[in-house]
Amino acid sequence: MWQGIRGHDDVVEQFRRSLACGRLASTYLFVGPAGVGKRTFAQQLAAALLCPATDQHDLTACGQCESCRLFAAGNHPDVDEVRRPDGKRTLPIELFVGDRDHRNQQGLCHNIALRPLLGRRRAAIIDDADWLTVESANSLLKTLEEPPPGALIILIGTSRSRQLPTILSRAQIVRFSRLPGDDAAELILQQQLADDREAALQLAELAGGSLEAARELADPELAAMRDRFVGAFDRDRFDLPRICTDVLQFVNAAGKEAEAKRARLRRLFTLTAEAWRVRLRDNLQDGATVEFMLAAMDRTLTAAEQLDRNANQATLIECWTADLARLRPAPAAAH
Ligand SMILES: [Zn+2]
Repeated sequence: MWQGIRGHDDVVEQFRRSLACGRLASTYLFVGPAGVGKRTFAQQLAAALLCPATDQHDLTACGQCESCRLFAAGNHPDVDEVRRPDGKRTLPIELFVGDRDHRNQQGLCHNIALRPLLGRRRAAIIDDADWLTVESANSLLKTLEEPPPGALIILIGTSRSRQLPTILSRAQIVRFSRLPGDDAAELILQQQLADDREAALQLAELAGGSLEAARELADPELAAMRDRFVGAFDRDRFDLPRICTDVLQFVNAAGKEAEAKRARLRRLFTLTAEAWRVRLRDNLQDGATVEFMLAAMDRTLTAAEQLDRNANQATLIECWTADLARLRPAPAAAH
Protein backbone atom coordinates (compact mmCIF):
# COMPACT_ATOMS: atom_id res chain seq x y z
CA MET A 1 0.00 0.00 0.00
CA TRP A 2 1.44 3.37 -1.05
CA GLN A 3 1.22 6.20 1.54
CA GLY A 4 -1.84 4.57 3.11
CA ILE A 5 -3.82 4.66 -0.14
CA ARG A 6 -5.77 1.62 -1.23
CA GLY A 7 -6.82 0.48 -4.65
CA HIS A 8 -4.70 2.66 -6.92
CA ASP A 9 -1.39 0.80 -7.21
CA ASP A 10 -1.57 1.10 -11.00
CA VAL A 11 -1.54 4.91 -10.74
CA VAL A 12 1.40 4.82 -8.31
CA GLU A 13 3.29 2.66 -10.82
CA GLN A 14 2.49 5.11 -13.59
CA PHE A 15 4.02 7.98 -11.58
CA ARG A 16 7.06 5.91 -10.60
CA ARG A 17 7.71 5.14 -14.26
CA SER A 18 7.37 8.81 -15.26
CA LEU A 19 9.80 9.82 -12.52
CA ALA A 20 12.27 7.08 -13.43
CA CYS A 21 12.55 8.40 -16.95
CA GLY A 22 12.45 12.02 -15.90
CA ARG A 23 9.09 12.69 -17.51
CA LEU A 24 7.07 14.10 -14.67
CA ALA A 25 4.52 16.45 -16.25
CA SER A 26 3.74 19.82 -14.73
CA THR A 27 -0.04 19.50 -15.04
CA TYR A 28 -2.14 16.44 -14.35
CA LEU A 29 -5.86 15.97 -14.61
CA PHE A 30 -7.18 13.22 -12.36
CA VAL A 31 -10.49 11.77 -13.51
CA GLY A 32 -12.62 9.00 -12.07
CA PRO A 33 -15.68 8.42 -9.88
CA ALA A 34 -16.23 10.63 -6.83
CA GLY A 35 -15.14 9.18 -3.52
CA VAL A 36 -12.41 6.80 -4.68
CA GLY A 37 -9.55 8.79 -3.14
CA LYS A 38 -8.37 11.09 -5.93
CA ARG A 39 -7.90 14.09 -3.63
CA THR A 40 -6.03 12.06 -1.02
CA PHE A 41 -3.85 10.68 -3.80
CA ALA A 42 -3.13 14.18 -5.12
CA GLN A 43 -2.18 15.35 -1.63
CA GLN A 44 0.09 12.36 -0.99
CA LEU A 45 1.73 12.81 -4.36
CA ALA A 46 2.40 16.47 -3.65
CA ALA A 47 3.69 15.67 -0.16
CA ALA A 48 6.07 13.05 -1.57
CA LEU A 49 7.35 15.33 -4.33
CA LEU A 50 7.82 18.22 -1.91
CA CYS A 51 9.52 16.31 0.90
CA PRO A 52 13.22 17.32 0.79
CA ALA A 53 14.26 14.38 3.00
CA THR A 54 13.53 11.60 0.52
CA ASP A 55 14.69 10.89 -3.02
CA GLN A 56 11.80 11.99 -5.18
CA HIS A 57 12.18 8.85 -7.32
CA ASP A 58 11.04 6.83 -4.32
CA LEU A 59 7.78 8.75 -4.34
CA THR A 60 7.50 8.71 -0.58
CA ALA A 61 7.21 11.45 2.03
CA CYS A 62 9.29 11.03 5.19
CA GLY A 63 6.44 12.26 7.39
CA GLN A 64 8.90 13.86 9.83
CA CYS A 65 10.49 16.90 8.22
CA GLU A 66 9.18 20.44 8.37
CA SER A 67 7.69 20.15 4.88
CA CYS A 68 5.83 16.94 5.75
CA ARG A 69 4.62 18.32 9.09
CA LEU A 70 3.33 21.54 7.56
CA PHE A 71 1.73 19.56 4.79
CA ALA A 72 -0.07 17.30 7.26
CA ALA A 73 -1.27 20.34 9.19
CA GLY A 74 -2.71 21.78 5.95
CA ASN A 75 -0.56 24.92 5.92
CA HIS A 76 2.43 24.18 3.75
CA PRO A 77 3.61 27.52 2.34
CA ASP A 78 4.42 26.02 -1.06
CA VAL A 79 1.06 24.34 -1.58
CA ASP A 80 -2.20 25.88 -2.75
CA GLU A 81 -5.43 23.91 -2.64
CA VAL A 82 -8.63 25.29 -4.11
CA ARG A 83 -12.09 23.82 -4.36
CA ARG A 84 -15.62 24.97 -4.98
CA PRO A 85 -16.57 27.28 -2.10
CA ASP A 86 -19.60 26.28 0.00
CA GLY A 87 -22.83 27.30 -1.67
CA LYS A 88 -21.15 28.14 -5.00
CA ARG A 89 -21.89 26.29 -8.21
CA THR A 90 -18.54 27.00 -9.84
CA LEU A 91 -14.87 27.66 -9.13
CA PRO A 92 -14.72 31.48 -9.20
CA ILE A 93 -11.92 33.29 -11.02
CA GLU A 94 -10.83 35.00 -7.77
CA LEU A 95 -9.34 31.71 -6.58
CA PHE A 96 -6.89 31.83 -9.47
CA VAL A 97 -6.00 35.46 -10.05
CA GLY A 98 -7.29 37.28 -6.96
CA ASP A 99 -10.28 39.59 -6.59
CA ARG A 100 -10.75 42.80 -8.57
CA ASP A 101 -8.67 44.86 -6.16
CA HIS A 102 -5.81 42.37 -6.17
CA ARG A 103 -5.93 41.01 -9.73
CA ASN A 104 -2.78 39.02 -10.47
CA GLN A 105 -1.45 39.80 -6.99
CA GLN A 106 -3.19 36.92 -5.25
CA GLY A 107 -4.60 33.51 -6.03
CA LEU A 108 -3.25 30.21 -7.22
CA CYS A 109 -1.58 31.48 -10.42
CA HIS A 110 0.25 34.17 -8.49
CA ASN A 111 1.35 31.87 -5.68
CA ILE A 112 2.67 29.06 -7.83
CA ALA A 113 5.02 31.46 -9.63
CA LEU A 114 6.75 32.40 -6.35
CA ARG A 115 10.03 30.80 -5.35
CA PRO A 116 9.46 27.72 -3.17
CA LEU A 117 10.10 28.50 0.50
CA LEU A 118 10.95 25.02 1.70
CA GLY A 119 12.07 22.82 -1.09
CA ARG A 120 12.32 22.02 -4.72
CA ARG A 121 8.90 22.99 -6.03
CA ARG A 122 5.50 24.49 -5.50
CA ALA A 123 2.32 22.52 -5.91
CA ALA A 124 -1.31 23.37 -6.54
CA ILE A 125 -4.34 21.12 -6.25
CA ILE A 126 -7.52 22.22 -7.98
CA ASP A 127 -10.43 20.12 -6.76
CA ASP A 128 -13.91 20.17 -8.34
CA ALA A 129 -12.37 20.88 -11.74
CA ASP A 130 -15.68 19.81 -13.32
CA TRP A 131 -16.90 23.21 -12.14
CA LEU A 132 -14.29 25.46 -13.72
CA THR A 133 -15.95 28.31 -15.60
CA VAL A 134 -14.62 29.35 -18.99
CA GLU A 135 -13.37 32.54 -17.34
CA SER A 136 -11.57 30.64 -14.55
CA ALA A 137 -10.07 28.14 -16.99
CA ASN A 138 -8.82 30.99 -19.18
CA SER A 139 -7.20 32.64 -16.20
CA LEU A 140 -5.21 29.43 -15.71
CA LEU A 141 -4.00 29.04 -19.25
CA LYS A 142 -0.82 31.05 -19.02
CA THR A 143 0.23 29.13 -15.91
CA LEU A 144 -0.51 25.80 -17.57
CA GLU A 145 1.29 26.78 -20.74
CA GLU A 146 4.40 28.16 -19.09
CA PRO A 147 4.52 26.50 -15.69
CA PRO A 148 7.21 27.70 -13.28
CA PRO A 149 10.16 25.26 -13.12
CA GLY A 150 9.29 22.16 -11.12
CA ALA A 151 5.72 23.26 -10.45
CA LEU A 152 3.15 20.52 -9.97
CA ILE A 153 -0.47 21.30 -10.76
CA ILE A 154 -3.15 18.69 -10.24
CA LEU A 155 -6.74 19.19 -11.36
CA ILE A 156 -9.32 16.77 -10.01
CA GLY A 157 -12.53 16.03 -11.88
CA THR A 158 -14.86 13.13 -12.44
CA SER A 159 -14.71 12.62 -16.19
CA ARG A 160 -12.84 13.79 -19.21
CA SER A 161 -16.04 14.88 -20.91
CA ARG A 162 -16.75 17.42 -18.19
CA GLN A 163 -13.53 19.34 -18.77
CA LEU A 164 -13.02 22.32 -21.02
CA PRO A 165 -10.91 21.67 -24.15
CA THR A 166 -8.43 24.35 -23.05
CA ILE A 167 -7.64 22.29 -19.93
CA LEU A 168 -7.70 18.90 -21.64
CA SER A 169 -5.12 19.92 -24.20
CA ARG A 170 -2.70 21.13 -21.53
CA ALA A 171 -2.92 18.38 -18.94
CA GLN A 172 -1.82 14.79 -18.74
CA ILE A 173 -4.81 12.66 -17.88
CA VAL A 174 -4.62 10.11 -15.08
CA ARG A 175 -7.56 7.75 -14.72
CA PHE A 176 -8.75 6.43 -11.39
CA SER A 177 -10.99 3.38 -11.33
CA ARG A 178 -13.69 2.60 -8.83
CA LEU A 179 -12.23 0.95 -5.74
CA PRO A 180 -12.12 -2.85 -5.85
CA GLY A 181 -14.79 -4.35 -3.54
CA ASP A 182 -12.28 -5.64 -0.97
CA ASP A 183 -10.47 -2.30 -0.68
CA ALA A 184 -13.71 -0.34 -0.47
CA ALA A 185 -15.05 -2.75 2.18
CA GLU A 186 -11.85 -2.37 4.18
CA LEU A 187 -12.15 1.44 4.13
CA ILE A 188 -15.86 1.21 5.00
CA LEU A 189 -14.98 -0.88 8.06
CA GLN A 190 -12.16 1.50 9.03
CA GLN A 191 -14.58 4.41 8.92
CA GLN A 192 -17.16 2.40 10.85
CA LEU A 193 -19.81 2.77 8.18
CA ALA A 194 -20.76 -0.92 8.50
CA ASP A 195 -20.77 -3.38 11.39
CA ASP A 196 -19.18 -6.38 9.76
CA ARG A 197 -17.39 -7.47 6.64
CA GLU A 198 -20.46 -8.81 4.86
CA ALA A 199 -22.34 -5.55 5.41
CA ALA A 200 -19.27 -3.60 4.30
CA LEU A 201 -18.98 -5.58 1.06
CA GLN A 202 -22.67 -5.09 0.39
CA LEU A 203 -22.39 -1.34 1.00
CA ALA A 204 -19.28 -1.16 -1.21
CA GLU A 205 -21.21 -2.82 -4.03
CA LEU A 206 -24.21 -0.52 -3.62
CA ALA A 207 -21.94 2.51 -3.53
CA GLY A 208 -20.21 1.50 -6.77
CA GLY A 209 -16.82 1.40 -5.03
CA SER A 210 -17.08 5.03 -3.95
CA LEU A 211 -16.38 5.81 -0.33
CA GLU A 212 -18.26 9.07 -0.61
CA ALA A 213 -21.37 7.27 -1.88
CA ALA A 214 -20.95 4.66 0.87
CA ARG A 215 -20.85 7.40 3.49
CA GLU A 216 -24.04 8.91 2.10
CA LEU A 217 -25.80 5.56 1.86
CA ALA A 218 -24.84 4.74 5.47
CA ASP A 219 -26.79 7.77 6.73
CA PRO A 220 -29.03 6.51 9.59
CA GLU A 221 -31.87 8.87 8.62
CA LEU A 222 -31.86 7.38 5.15
CA ALA A 223 -31.96 3.85 6.56
CA ALA A 224 -34.87 4.83 8.82
CA MET A 225 -36.78 6.29 5.87
CA ARG A 226 -36.17 3.14 3.84
CA ASP A 227 -37.45 0.98 6.69
CA ARG A 228 -40.60 3.10 7.06
CA PHE A 229 -41.17 2.99 3.32
CA VAL A 230 -40.62 -0.73 2.78
CA GLY A 231 -42.45 -1.51 6.03
CA ALA A 232 -45.50 0.47 4.89
CA PHE A 233 -46.15 -2.10 2.16
CA ASP A 234 -46.14 -4.95 4.69
CA ARG A 235 -48.91 -3.45 6.77
CA ASP A 236 -52.54 -4.48 6.37
CA ARG A 237 -53.65 -0.88 6.22
CA PHE A 238 -51.63 0.94 3.63
CA ASP A 239 -51.80 4.70 3.96
CA LEU A 240 -50.79 6.09 0.57
CA PRO A 241 -51.06 9.86 1.29
CA ARG A 242 -49.14 9.40 4.50
CA ILE A 243 -46.17 7.56 3.03
CA CYS A 244 -46.09 10.04 0.12
CA THR A 245 -45.91 12.97 2.50
CA ASP A 246 -43.27 11.22 4.56
CA VAL A 247 -41.00 10.71 1.51
CA LEU A 248 -41.58 14.24 0.25
CA GLN A 249 -40.70 15.76 3.62
CA PHE A 250 -37.63 13.57 3.88
CA VAL A 251 -36.45 14.65 0.43
CA ASN A 252 -37.16 18.34 1.07
CA ALA A 253 -35.21 18.20 4.31
CA ALA A 254 -32.05 17.69 2.21
CA GLY A 255 -31.83 21.48 1.81
CA LYS A 256 -32.72 24.24 -0.57
CA GLU A 257 -30.71 23.08 -3.56
CA ALA A 258 -32.53 20.96 -6.12
CA GLU A 259 -29.43 18.81 -6.62
CA ALA A 260 -29.23 17.94 -2.92
CA LYS A 261 -32.86 16.84 -2.92
CA ARG A 262 -32.42 14.84 -6.08
CA ALA A 263 -29.36 13.11 -4.64
CA ARG A 264 -31.26 12.21 -1.48
CA LEU A 265 -34.17 10.75 -3.44
CA ARG A 266 -31.74 8.82 -5.64
CA ARG A 267 -30.18 7.28 -2.53
CA LEU A 268 -33.62 6.35 -1.21
CA PHE A 269 -34.36 4.58 -4.51
CA THR A 270 -31.04 2.72 -4.31
CA LEU A 271 -31.59 1.56 -0.72
CA THR A 272 -35.24 0.66 -1.26
CA ALA A 273 -34.55 -1.49 -4.32
CA GLU A 274 -31.71 -3.11 -2.39
CA ALA A 275 -33.96 -3.85 0.60
CA TRP A 276 -36.36 -5.76 -1.66
CA ARG A 277 -33.47 -7.53 -3.36
CA VAL A 278 -32.10 -8.73 0.00
CA ARG A 279 -35.51 -9.97 1.07
CA LEU A 280 -35.89 -11.87 -2.18
CA ARG A 281 -32.45 -13.37 -1.77
CA ASP A 282 -33.25 -14.47 1.74
CA ASN A 283 -36.31 -16.12 0.28
CA LEU A 284 -38.69 -15.61 3.15
CA GLN A 285 -41.71 -14.65 1.06
CA ASP A 286 -44.76 -16.36 -0.35
CA GLY A 287 -45.45 -16.33 -4.12
CA ALA A 288 -47.56 -13.17 -4.26
CA THR A 289 -44.99 -11.25 -2.26
CA VAL A 290 -42.11 -12.42 -4.47
CA GLU A 291 -43.99 -11.17 -7.50
CA PHE A 292 -44.62 -7.83 -5.79
CA MET A 293 -40.99 -7.40 -4.81
CA LEU A 294 -39.71 -8.11 -8.31
CA ALA A 295 -42.19 -5.61 -9.74
CA ALA A 296 -41.39 -3.09 -7.00
CA MET A 297 -37.65 -3.29 -7.68
CA ASP A 298 -38.29 -2.77 -11.36
CA ARG A 299 -40.62 0.18 -10.74
CA THR A 300 -38.06 1.73 -8.38
CA LEU A 301 -35.28 1.44 -10.96
CA THR A 302 -37.55 3.11 -13.50
CA ALA A 303 -38.22 5.90 -11.02
CA ALA A 304 -34.46 6.36 -10.59
CA GLU A 305 -34.06 6.70 -14.37
CA GLN A 306 -36.88 9.25 -14.48
CA LEU A 307 -35.16 11.19 -11.73
CA ASP A 308 -31.97 11.32 -13.79
CA ARG A 309 -34.01 12.77 -16.64
CA ASN A 310 -35.03 15.64 -14.36
CA ALA A 311 -38.61 14.58 -13.71
CA ASN A 312 -40.53 16.73 -11.22
CA GLN A 313 -39.69 15.21 -7.85
CA ALA A 314 -43.08 15.56 -6.13
CA THR A 315 -44.90 14.01 -9.11
CA LEU A 316 -42.30 11.29 -9.35
CA ILE A 317 -42.71 10.36 -5.69
CA GLU A 318 -46.51 10.31 -5.99
CA CYS A 319 -46.51 8.12 -9.11
CA TRP A 320 -43.86 5.78 -7.74
CA THR A 321 -45.71 5.25 -4.48
CA ALA A 322 -49.15 4.94 -6.13
CA ASP A 323 -47.85 2.37 -8.64
CA LEU A 324 -46.23 0.35 -5.88
CA ALA A 325 -49.51 0.46 -3.93
CA ARG A 326 -51.33 -0.98 -6.95
CA LEU A 327 -48.74 -3.74 -7.38
CA ARG A 328 -48.98 -4.73 -3.75
CA PRO A 329 -50.66 -8.08 -3.05
CA ALA A 330 -54.07 -7.90 -1.36
CA PRO A 331 -53.73 -8.09 2.43
CA ALA A 332 -54.25 -11.55 3.90
CA ALA A 333 -57.47 -10.47 5.63
CA ALA A 334 -59.14 -9.87 2.23
CA HIS A 335 -58.59 -13.43 0.94
ZN1 LIG B 1 9.45 14.91 4.67
